[in-house]
This record gives sequence, structure tokens and C-alpha cells, in this order.
Amino acid sequence: MNRGPRRVAVIGAGAAGMMAAIFAAAHGAETLLLERTADGGRKILISGGGRCNILPARVDERRFVTDSSPNSLRKLLRSWPLAEQVAFFERDLGLPLVEEQASGKLFPVSNRARDVRDGLLALAARRGARFLPNRLVTDLVVAGAGWRVLFDTGAPLDADAVIVATGGLSVPKTGSDGTGLAILQRLGHEVHPTYAALTPVTDDAEAFASLAGVSLPVTLTARSEARHASAGGGFLFTHRGYSGPAVLDVSHVLTRAREMDRCTASLQVRWSALDEDGWTRALRAKGTRSVGTVIRGELPERLADALMAAAGVAPETPLAQLRREPRRHLIETLTRGELPWTGDEGYKKAEVTGGGVSLAELHPRNLESRRAPGLYLCGEVLDAFGPIGGYNFQWAWATGRAAGIGAALGG
Ligand SMILES: Cc1cc2nc3c(=O)[nH]c(=O)nc-3n(C[C@H](O)[C@H](O)[C@H](O)COP(=O)(O)OP(=O)(O)OC[C@H]3O[C@@H](n4cnc5c(N)ncnc54)[C@H](O)[C@@H]3O)c2cc1C
Repeated sequence: MNRGPRRVAVIGAGAAGMMAAIFAAAHGAETLLLERTADGGRKILISGGGRCNILPARVDERRFVTDSSPNSLRKLLRSWPLAEQVAFFERDLGLPLVEEQASGKLFPVSNRARDVRDGLLALAARRGARFLPNRLVTDLVVAGAGWRVLFDTGAPLDADAVIVATGGLSVPKTGSDGTGLAILQRLGHEVHPTYAALTPVTDDAEAFASLAGVSLPVTLTARSEARHASAGGGFLFTHRGYSGPAVLDVSHVLTRAREMDRCTASLQVRWSALDEDGWTRALRAKGTRSVGTVIRGELPERLADALMAAAGVAPETPLAQLRREPRRHLIETLTRGELPWTGDEGYKKAEVTGGGVSLAELHPRNLESRRAPGLYLCGEVLDAFGPIGGYNFQWAWATGRAAGIGAALGG
């Protein structure tokens, strides 16, 4: 029997699939990259506001979220250390990166997400992978020792190994609508319930609608009966509610409480770097200064005024006349204020999907499915996501590379 090069079909030309195709081809596989849209990599194009926050400058593995074993997650992530990923982009892709000091995020020096998407596709082609756009995969069936890939139209295609890199459910207009997850579930994989993550939070009551446009760094804590998350970083009042990195980073606690746990969750905010002691000192009587002068000195004026109104303290109150109970209430509002919320923007705006195929379904060595030999999984289809800051591409690159090598080498 002619055993030529292994034939590997990669489904989905997103971040994970492109990386998988590059490494499968580099390891000698005859590689096909199948993509439902006309171009692929659409999330890369819209990432980081069109600049593509390609990686974090430093990684805190504890910030990843999974319902699978955190140990498995760490193992997969460490299979391609951050420094080697940076070297790959700079050396192999010829794309110098630069750190945005304030955020610790890495961007291409060109600040163009398109350079990342086009560069990955070009490298995949140089390594010998064939890109087939406008191919919607509808199912996978076992065929002999390999797999048959079925499409909505046209002839099926046979492969020795298939890499599923179809992403999750977020921002469906980019091409990721959960088809891959449904196929994997049908093939017997345990799929942990999915939920929108890194998504803006809404408040139908519009309690703070007049503050739309105000932004500042805060510390947020979301807490439900089942879980909690805290994040520090940018916060933005919008016309519909709240956004910004800190809000996105804790939003999964709220979306899960609403959709899955059927319980309520609270959103608490510390509006500045000052904690209770800090505010107690700042609000000590000093000459003729008023409460308003102090609070407006620390926070954007419109927010300062709204918070003083919420705490029932008049801004012109001299510090010397601020009584104990209103002072306590004001400090509580400033350090542990409850933010009213009623919902979230869901998958429409979610930067990632939480949940997905359990990491226990994979051989951590090569990301081959334990349920369906010859099938390899990578990227957002798996049960893991990280915070804002390049973490989610880091996951896609690491797992894409491992699945590409695994599928090319087999066994
Ligand atoms: C607005 C936005 C901004 C973001 N910014 C950043 C950022 O700056 N940094 C960061 O780290 N992360 C960012 N992310 C998250 C990041 O984009 C994702 O984590 C990452 O793209 C996931 O890669 P993936 O390849 O697993 O999935 P995807 O990128 O979703 O790719 C899946 C691909 O599979 C294709 N596909 C799906 N089903 C089929 C099918 N049945 N047949 C054929 N093809 C199929 C899709 O068309 C798509 O091209 C952002 C996300 C969004 C939405």
C-alpha cells in the first residue's frame, strides 16, 4: 500500500487552525486548511481594536478559566512557552512585536492586525499547506483508518487525521457558530456547557446612563453563589451599561449566573486606588475643604458627583461637618459600591466562549481525542479561556501548534 505523506485536514482557518496548518505542513503532512468564510482569520482582523494584541508580555496562568483540570490547562499552555511564541512571530513570521507598557500587551510594531492574519496564511502556504476557503464542514465520519469530511455542498474529502479548530460561539458573524462543538458532541465528547465570556454588561434600568463615556481604572469583583472573580483595569460607562477590560474579565461570573446557575450575582466596585483606610485619611477634616473637593480630586467629576448623590452626601459639606454615619456610607460606596446590572451583551459581543470540549477528552501530549483517534482539537473549541491581554491568542497558538504536530506525526 502506498503510504505517502499523512493527509491532514484542518477545519477552521482562525488563529488556532492557521497555526495548526503551519506546523502540520512543517512536519511533513499534506495539509489542507478548510474554511467556511471567503478569507478566514476574521477574529484576528477585529482583535485588539484592529491592532491585534497577539500575546501578553508576561503571563499569569492562574487567570485562565476552565471547568476542566487547571493542571491539564497549564500543561497544554506550557507546551509552547511564551518566549518561544514571541520568537516565532518575530523570526519565522518576520513580524516584530512591541510591548504596550501600560497594559503589558504585545502588539505587532506595525499595529496592523491584517499583518498577523496575512502573515500566518502566507507562512502556511510557504510550508506547503493548501488553503480552501468557502468550504463549510457539516460533519465528520470514520472512514477506514481515517476520517471523511462532509461539506454542505460538493464531494467529501478523506484524510488520515482531522484537526478541529472551529472556535466557539462568540461573534458569529466571524464564522464561528458552534458547528464544530455540535459535531464533537455527536462524536461522544464531553462538552462542558458554553457561556459568553469577556462580554459587556448591561443595565436596563440605566442607573448610570448619564455617565456614558466616562472611563477610569477600577477594581471590580463579581460574585455569585457558585463562583467569583476580581479584576483591576479600565472601566467604561456605556449607554447600555458597562464595558472595558475590568468588566469583560469578570463578566463570565454574571453570564453564568444568569444563564446556567439560575442564581443572582453581584458586581462590586472600588472606584480608585484608595481603600477604606485611604479614604478615611483623605476625608479627615482639613481647613475649610469640602467633601466634593476631595472626591472630585480622586475621580472624574461626573462620577464623583453621582457617587456623592448615591451616598446622600452634599458635595459642599465641609469635611469638618461630615458625620460618622454619612462618612461610613460614602466610603462604602467608594470602595465596595454595588453596581446595578440586569444582563449582558452575550455572544454577539463576547470576545470568547467559556466552556467547550473537556480537556480530559484529550491526550495532553498531542491533543488527540481519546474518544475519536485521528481527531485533534485546538483553540476556543476547548474548555479554556483567559482574560483580556493576549491570553486567548496565546492559548490558540499553543494548542494549534501542538495539534498540528500531533496530527502530522500521528500515533
Ligand atoms: C472583538 C474581539 C477582539 C479580540 N481581541 C483579542 C486580542 O486582542 N487578543 C487575544 O488574545 N484574543 C482576542 N480575541 C479572542 C480571539 O480572537 C480568540 O480567542 C481566537 O480567535 C480563537 O481562535 P480559534 O482559532 O480557536 O477560533 P476562531 O478564531 O473563532 O476561528 C474559527 C474558524 O473556524 C471557521 N469555522 C467554524 N465552523 C466551521 C465549519 N463548520 N466549517 C469550516 N470552517 C468553520 C470560522 O469561520 C473561523 O474562521 C478577540 C475576540 C474578539 C471577538
